[in-house]
Amino acid sequence: MLKKLVNEAFFTLRIKATGPVLIKSGRATVNGPDMTPVLTFRNGQQEVFLPGSSLKGVFRSHSEKVICSLKQQVVCYPFFGNEDKEVDLEQRRKDYRDSCGAIFNELARDGQMRKKIENETHYVYANSCPACRLFGSTGFIGRISIGDAYQDEATKAITEQRDGVGIDRLTGGASHGAKFELEVVSTGAIFETDIHLRNFEIWQLGMLFVVLQDLADELIRIGSGRSRGLGKVTAEISDQEHNGRPGGFVISSIRDTNEPESELWGLGRWLNDGSYGTQKDDFLKNVSPSAQSQRGIRDQRVFLGEALTTLQEVAINDFMARIRGWQQPDIPKHLPDVPGNLERNGSARR
Ligand SMILES: [Zn+2]
Repeated sequence: MLKKLVNEAFFTLRIKATGPVLIKSGRATVNGPDMTPVLTFRNGQQEVFLPGSSLKGVFRSHSEKVICSLKQQVVCYPFFGNEDKEVDLEQRRKDYRDSCGAIFNELARDGQMRKKIENETHYVYANSCPACRLFGSTGFIGRISIGDAYQDEATKAITEQRDGVGIDRLTGGASHGAKFELEVVSTGAIFETDIHLRNFEIWQLGMLFVVLQDLADELIRIGSGRSRGLGKVTAEISDQEHNGRPGGFVISSIRDTNEPESELWGLGRWLNDGSYGTQKDDFLKNVSPSAQSQRGIRDQRVFLGEALTTLQEVAINDFMARIRGWQQPDIPKHLPDVPGNLERNGSARR
């Protein structure tokens, strides 16, 4: 991937349970990532945390839904390799492209192409869907990292037992006489995680802000048992200083460059040559942060309150415009329907 670091964004996200959140249900869900809290030992004490990897899964699947509702066949379908089990394959293929990773694997069957895919990460990035560009795929690691979310000291260890009904593994219904205790994180528990974005395009900021807005509006539930009304949360960007970093949404870029103070440049403007499938006009004008400071070789701009609200609005507008005008890449939309396709893809995913 790109060797230099042109821009970065980071912040601490505070996730607050507005209803009980199930710690574990003892069965796998079929709805994809569920961000189930995990009970662990940390510093010699028992505590509950939300794994960063499952948070990332929730952010990703929500982004995919959002992109799909803005424009069809832009984002790829990640749960790939079970076409025979899909109820409405035709509709799914109208809405989604096949998994970017699986398509690249298919293309890599050609020796020349394999070399290109392995050596030219800009080619892979340019031909990847928006979700893979931010969250990564088999081709490369993503631009976003989300740490494990640990409980805020003040609200720590708020868990309680609840009566639950056993779920029959075969039918999915209640199983006879099976009643067990569910362990839940109580309403009011707060988790904090650090989120970090590097070499971002402006529309990627916008996409992240859409997820954050929907989390704030309690539109995204976490953990299992969501159909039983569990897992209600809200979230906000913390305005408190954390691990020596200022509160708010912080954007940092290299000092003494051509980036004017009143502009915020995305990766495309930094590259300024259209490589990586980016655009030269990838920047925001009239940007006014709440505070600005220097740190090492970087300029840090902090966005809080009104300044953050304005940044969110313009970045979300950029995201919507970019997705609606998304250029289809050169790679095929769907894998060829040939016998043996499924086994091949199955082995490619391992
Ligand atoms: Zn993709």
